[in-house]
Amino acid sequence: MVMGEVPEEVDIAVIGGGVGGYTAAIRAAELGKSVVLIEKEKLGGHCLNYACIPSKTLIHISNIFYDSTHSQKFGISAENVTIDAKKMLEWRIGVSSKLENGVAFLCKQNKIDVLKGAGTFIEKNRIQVTDGTEVIFKKAIIATGSEPAGLEGLEFNGKTVIDYKQALLLDHIPKEMAIVGAGYVAVEISTLYAKLGSKVHVIARSDVLSKFDRDAVSIVKKHMQRLGIMIHMGANPKAYGSGKLELDNGDSISAEVVVVAIGLRPYSDGLGAQTAGVDIDSRGFVKVNRNLQTSNPDIYAIGDIIGEPMLAHKSMRQGVVSAEGAAGLGSSYDNLVIPAVIFSDPEIAIAGSVDEKEGIKVKKFPLSALGRAIALDETDGFAKIAYDSDNVVVGIELVSPDANAAITEAALAIEMGATLEDIADTIHPHPTYSESIKEVAEAALGRPIHFFYGAST
Ligand SMILES: Cc1cc2nc3c(=O)[nH]c(=O)nc-3n(C[C@H](O)[C@H](O)[C@H](O)COP(=O)(O)OP(=O)(O)OC[C@H]3O[C@@H](n4cnc5c(N)ncnc54)[C@H](O)[C@@H]3O)c2cc1C
Repeated sequence: MVMGEVPEEVDIAVIGGGVGGYTAAIRAAELGKSVVLIEKEKLGGHCLNYACIPSKTLIHISNIFYDSTHSQKFGISAENVTIDAKKMLEWRIGVSSKLENGVAFLCKQNKIDVLKGAGTFIEKNRIQVTDGTEVIFKKAIIATGSEPAGLEGLEFNGKTVIDYKQALLLDHIPKEMAIVGAGYVAVEISTLYAKLGSKVHVIARSDVLSKFDRDAVSIVKKHMQRLGIMIHMGANPKAYGSGKLELDNGDSISAEVVVVAIGLRPYSDGLGAQTAGVDIDSRGFVKVNRNLQTSNPDIYAIGDIIGEPMLAHKSMRQGVVSAEGAAGLGSSYDNLVIPAVIFSDPEIAIAGSVDEKEGIKVKKFPLSALGRAIALDETDGFAKIAYDSDNVVVGIELVSPDANAAITEAALAIEMGATLEDIADTIHPHPTYSESIKEVAEAALGRPIHFFYGAST
C-alpha cells in the first residue's frame, strides 16, 4: 500500500476469481454486502480460461472434424477435409475471452470491486494485494483453486513437456503425442487429439480411469483403441529427450510433445494462510467444516482448494453457500450428490454411486435397445441404476452420448429422494437418451418395456 493511502474496508473479501470465487462474490453482492474480488490472473479462473470450457470447445471441434470423415454409413462422404489449428485456437481463445468479459460485466453490474493482483493475508482480517491495495474485511472467502501437478524427472518446459493448460493452447496438431496419466483429463485430451489426427500414446501407471466403474471404462477404452490411441498400462515415464519418451517397461515412444496430466494440486502459494489462522492439511488442502468455515470462523474456503472432487459445479455451489454463510444466512453445504461427467467417447456421467453392496441392488439397461442410440449408431453404452430396499434411488450412471445433459435428472432425483416408481412413471421425451433412465427404472421394478431380460425379470 502506498504510504498515506487508506485501506479498503469491506464486508466480504474473496480471494480467487475462478468459478467458485466469482459466484461467491456475486451472491454476496446480491445479499447487499460490500465485496472485493481479488484475482491475480483472469476472471473465470481455470475452468473458463484453461480447463472445462477450452477442453469442451476443442472436443466439440474434434467431433465435427472426425464425424465429417467417418459418416459414410449415413451416405456422407467428404474428401480433403482439413483443419486449421490456428483458427481452431482463435475460436477457443475467443470463447474464453467472451466468458471472462461476461464475468467482468456481472461484477460491475453487482458493484463488486475487482482487484487485479495476488492477495496475501497479512493479519487475521487484512489482505495485502500486489496491486498495492490493502483490504480490511469482516469475512473472507478463499477460492484459490488448483494447479497442474508436476512429475519429478519430467519437468515442464513449456514446449515439449507441457501441462493440460498448454495442451489446450496448441496452435498445431502434433503428429505424435504422449500423455502421462490416465484420469479424466488425460482421457479427454487424448481422445480429442486422436480425433484431430494425432498418433496418441497414453501412459497409465495402473489403468485408464482407475477410480471409475470398470463396466463403463471398458467401453471408453475400446473406443480409445478404435481411435488408434495406444494405452501403455502399468508403465511409468523414465526420461524424455530427442523426441523419445522412455518408459520403465523398456518401451520407447516417439512423441514430439509430452503432456503431463497426472492430476491437480491445491494452490495456496503466497496466500499467508498461517497468518490468517487457516489450517491446511498434509496434502495442501484448506480444512473446512460443513458450513465451509476454516479454522478461522471469519474465513471460508471453497472449491478445488478444499479437496476432491475438483469440479467446477461443486465450486459454484460452495460459492453460493459460503457467501450466504458469510452474510449471516447460516447456509450449509449439505448436497447429497455431486454429479460428474467425463467427456470421453462415449461420455460417462454419474450421480451417486452404482457400486453393488449390501442392501443396494443395481440394474442395467443397454443402449442397444434404445431407439435414439440405434438411429445415431451409438449403441455402445448403458444406463445403470442403484436403489435400496425401499426402491429409493441412490445412484445412476450413464454411458452414452449426451450423458452430460441427461445426468441432471439423476442428481435431482437423488436430492429429492425419488424412488424407482417416481422415475418410471415420469414421462420422458422420445426419442432421447434420457429415456434410458426411465427404461432402467422400469427394468429394476421388474416391468421392462424395450429390453427382454429373460424369464427371471
Ligand atoms: C483439463 C481440465 C478439464 C476440466 N473439465 C471440467 C469439467 O468439464 N467440468 C468440471 O466441473 N470441472 C472440470 N475441471 C475442473 C475445474 O476446472 C475446477 O474444478 C475448477 O476450475 C475449480 O474452480 P475454483 O474456483 O475452485 O478454482 P480455479 O478455477 O482454479 O480458480 C482459482 C483462481 O484463483 C486465482 N488465485 C489463486 N491464488 C490467488 C491469490 N493468492 N490471489 C488472487 N488470486 C489467486 C487463480 O489465478 C485462479 O484464477 C477440469 C479441469 C481440468 C484440468
